[in-house]
Amino acid sequence: MLDIIKLLPDSVANQIAAGEVIQRPASAVKELMENALDAGATQIDLVVKDAGKTMIMVVDNGCGMSETDARLCFERHATSKISKAEDLFAIRTMGFRGEALASIAAIAQVELKTRRKEDEVGTRIVNEGSVVKEQSLVPMQPGTTFTVKNLFFNVPARRNFLKSPQAEMRHIVEEFTRVALMNPEIGFTLISDGKELFHLYAGNLKQRIMGLFGNSYEERLLPVNQEADRVRIEGYIVKAEFAKKTRGEQYFFVNKRFIKHAYLHHAIENAFMEMIPQDSFPGYFLNIEVDPADIDINIHPTKTEVNFLDVKLVYAILHAAVRKAIGQHNLSPMIDFETPSDLNNELGMVSQVFPVSIPNVPIDPNFNPFSKEYGPHEKRYEQNYQRENKDPGDWRLLYGERTDLPQESQEHLDNAQPNVQYLQLNQSFIVTTVKSGLLVIDQHLAHSRVLFEKYLKELEGNKGMSQQELFPQALTLNMNDASLLKELLPELECIGFVLEQVNPTTFMINGTPADAAGCDAVMLLEKILDNNKLNRTDLQLDRKLNIAKTLASQLSIKPQTKMGEMEMQNLVDQLFACNVAEVAPNGKKVYIIIGMEELMEKFG
Ligand code: ADP
Ligand code: MG
Repeated sequence: MLDIIKLLPDSVANQIAAGEVIQRPASAVKELMENALDAGATQIDLVVKDAGKTMIMVVDNGCGMSETDARLCFERHATSKISKAEDLFAIRTMGFRGEALASIAAIAQVELKTRRKEDEVGTRIVNEGSVVKEQSLVPMQPGTTFTVKNLFFNVPARRNFLKSPQAEMRHIVEEFTRVALMNPEIGFTLISDGKELFHLYAGNLKQRIMGLFGNSYEERLLPVNQEADRVRIEGYIVKAEFAKKTRGEQYFFVNKRFIKHAYLHHAIENAFMEMIPQDSFPGYFLNIEVDPADIDINIHPTKTEVNFLDVKLVYAILHAAVRKAIGQHNLSPMIDFETPSDLNNELGMVSQVFPVSIPNVPIDPNFNPFSKEYGPHEKRYEQNYQRENKDPGDWRLLYGERTDLPQESQEHLDNAQPNVQYLQLNQSFIVTTVKSGLLVIDQHLAHSRVLFEKYLKELEGNKGMSQQELFPQALTLNMNDASLLKELLPELECIGFVLEQVNPTTFMINGTPADAAGCDAVMLLEKILDNNKLNRTDLQLDRKLNIAKTLASQLSIKPQTKMGEMEMQNLVDQLFACNVAEVAPNGKKVYIIIGMEELMEKFG
């Protein structure tokens, strides 16, 4: 028999490799831009035609190549970045396998023009399907220009599989964005079919994010900065209120290399958990800097996964970093309350000039500034006076005695009582004034935020109050739930539950959290178990958040509940003592402020 094994010619081997490395125009864009970065360029320009199908050109002002290197760079395993196996563990550059250019040249018509600073002229090489077609000298500035034409010209099957130009262009913009994001000190441009899509000037990361995503990001970003033993995390997160319904603005980098990492993404989602609605996604632009020896980078060049030696540590640091960023830059704006003493002082001063008589018109406790009936023209002044005007003295000086008002309303003005602090609207909202306008708080959401933070604290070690049950109830569960409840026992104890397991599936409820007075303890525990199963992960962190969220939503004051003034005041005080007063644990807004301008506008 004849021998039948043959070595594949290089051009075929390269084409096979190309199938893996270059899947679409955007892959070539990525490889060429990364090479330009590795070459130390300070300006990188990307020009594409027909979403990269007809042409991709990358121009850089980096180190350039010698004539020999220019020929060699198209060879497989031709790389200047590593020379021995150990280098693999210290790699900080983007490329290292020496595969990209060989792959691109195997499936396209490539023109390379390159010149080192020290050389007088540059080298021009045309390589088509792994064959050098032309070589000449060219006058040019130092740097390198790669022009890739007719990608997949010799692999029609691949070419036919490309998606619509819009889809391919989106991939290109995405690769461009990833490279540009982590290199803000480098200038970039992207021109597509003659139109400039991006012109990014060298600057800092914040400016780069604004350059890529729009100037509105100026106020949306919160800086993240965390340094730990072997990990440093730096970048920005998007404030919770700007979370989007679609994924997309989620950028993780490890040593400036873009990665996707579901587990670490979870750390961020978790940190935002009680602040954004379930169907929204947090935005972030974060670089995780680690010793290259602490990650496994020996992975496929087109893959975006990376393995950390100690991923749990990175998770914890990342979570803490994001929590800190959210906490430090308190999401709630400073709210300036009008204190009763402010009002009294102002009134005191005024009363010397305009003695104020004791009100003889009873104040309507159900006064509702929003109700339709409360709309006649003259009464609005009363409303203004009662609720808005900080300084009745000024008001009168400004308007004088309003002779244009009907007699009756003048009386209202004289007699109105200005120190009602809190009103309850529809037994669901607390309405009060702040210096900037009218503050409307959702009582249920406010209370759930207060309770949520309280329980989180208790779960973190400040054990909560418990009340003993006079008639302990029994809770009987199936085997699975019973073992889950057993797992949760330490946490449940923290918040005031006293549970005793009497047989494998039954627990006696001997004590409940102090806030749960009058609540169905069995139902409460079942809810906790349910929510825990819904969001089940093994992390203790999740368990705590879940328990705090469940209790907060179950035990908070419901809408349609009448509240006394003291209760309202207490709740408002507690709310604004919270770390994040603005959003409830379910991600909904807790309060709104109707500003003075907005009010004025409404009155025309
Ligand atoms: P890798 O980047 O993995 O080393 P490539 O095939 O992408 O492999 O590139 C091969 C080599 O060509 C690089 O190692 C580098 O020495 C050289 N090279 C590629 N692009 C450039 C460039 N824009 N400027 C200077 N040298 C480059
Ligand atoms: Mg490369």
